[in-house]
Amino acid sequence: MEYVYDFGDDIQHIVTLEKVIDAEEVTKHTRIISQNKPKYSYCEVCEKLGKKMVATWVCIECSNETQRDVLVCEDCLMKEHDDHYAEEMLY
Ligand SMILES: [Zn+2]
Ligand SMILES: [Zn+2]
Repeated sequence: MEYVYDFGDDIQHIVTLEKVIDAEEVTKHTRIISQNKPKYSYCEVCEKLGKKMVATWVCIECSNETQRDVLVCEDCLMKEHDDHYAEEMLY
């Protein structure tokens, strides 16, 4: 499956049919019967302190500087990246 958006950007998905089950009732609506669990990334500052906090921000400035994704939670963003340019992560 190919999802094309904007001006030609696209995301490709490989769809695998895992099994066919009999429908108990016929519905008109599409139903989600299962889905991938979101793959959370954790705040690297909290992780060093042994805490597992889901990272909700990526500090663009620090990421550019260190050439890797610097992911932090909101608290750590406020504390350590206060005046940095950061973007919120969407899960
Ligand atoms: Zn944190
Ligand atoms: Zn930063």
